Amino acid sequence: MYDKNNIFHKILRSEIPAKIIYEDDTVLSFHDINPVSKIHALVITKGLYSDFPDFIARASAEEVKHFFAAVAKVAEILGVSESGYRILSNAGPDSGQEVPHFHLHILGGERLRR
Ligand code: AMP
Repeated sequence: MYDKNNIFHKILRSEIPAKIIYEDDTVLSFHDINPVSKIHALVITKGLYSDFPDFIARASAEEVKHFFAAVAKVAEILGVSESGYRILSNAGPDSGQEVPHFHLHILGGERLRR
């Protein structure tokens, strides 16, 4: 069950600011406020999904494809397509997911530790 009381929903409602990298009808990307690598971006859906399992269960095939294409586009914008990057998504208690709104992290801009 999606809980609207989360920080990314507030960003979507423009109630709090974010350093926007990319936006279209269904996707928003912005810089992580607490980066763990030189490049650390977040890509979120505008659709209300709480995590990856929720997204993959309820989103249309077109929406899923569009989302991942947008992730690749953000990597291009950030200039890490050639140098490489890591994408990850936390889901469920063991992952330590902090914000219950589906998002992918894009990490790069330097050699990442395993
Ligand atoms: P996760 O643990 O996958 O839910 O990660 C949530 C991420 O959101 C963390 O990396 C936070 O640093 C980041 N974050 C939290 N609040 C904000 C914010 N207001 N703007 C940008 N990033 C944020």
